[in-house]
Amino acid sequence: MTADVQAMADGLWRVPTSASNAYLWRTRTGGFVVVDPGLYGDETIVQDALVSLGATAADVRTIVLTHFHSDHAGAAAALAGITGAPIGAGFRDAAVLRGDVPRPLPDLTAAERPLYDLIAAAHPENMEAPRCTVSLELEHGDPVDDDGDMVVHAVTGHTWGSIALHLPRQAVVLTGDIAITGHDGAPAPGPFNVDRVRARRALARLAALKPRVAGLGHGAPLLGDAHETLAALAGGTPPPQRPRADPPP
Ligand SMILES: [Zn+2]
Repeated sequence: MTADVQAMADGLWRVPTSASNAYLWRTRTGGFVVVDPGLYGDETIVQDALVSLGATAADVRTIVLTHFHSDHAGAAAALAGITGAPIGAGFRDAAVLRGDVPRPLPDLTAAERPLYDLIAAAHPENMEAPRCTVSLELEHGDPVDDDGDMVVHAVTGHTWGSIALHLPRQAVVLTGDIAITGHDGAPAPGPFNVDRVRARRALARLAALKPRVAGLGHGAPLLGDAHETLAALAGGTPPPQRPRADPPP
């Protein structure tokens, strides 16, 4: 099976999973960091993507979760079982992922409520936080690879422990659900936040990192001066018009 893999920067690929985006980062030593392996069952998509890059599950060194939502974290336990790699997550989401505390509910806007109810009705199993063993409790500034090329940037607000990943050398950020590309192809702040004000501030802080490229929680990435779009979203203004990053299907 040929995996759908999009090169985003040197050593970084986006892998669309069944409901969100996974990212594969190849470290200087040749191991891989997997960010957000996806929904339950999506571990096979990640494995296929690794094979298409000439690697295997044995090359995975770390699995990092930007937050506990099942569309990003549901496959983590299975992938950890296959690879033997430890799972890392923001320390305030780690207890949720372990099942030690209940998942905090989002503070839904009136506009978000219908979609949330639709997802809850269609996939009630995905409304529970997936259980997995988190052995790396990550805080702002923590490295997630041996060389410190990928570091944690705290983005509290989507969940209480949500994190982004920053690759300063490459001027790349992986935002998690702080920003998404919607089905209409337009970038937008992510929905279903526990604290929208904090999430918007986090978006502004990611823009201030001046990334050229941003991998978002869902949909196409921002390629080329991504910080301008992130800053516009944070400020509530329409993002600058750019050609679509994705080639037409
Ligand atoms: Zn989410």
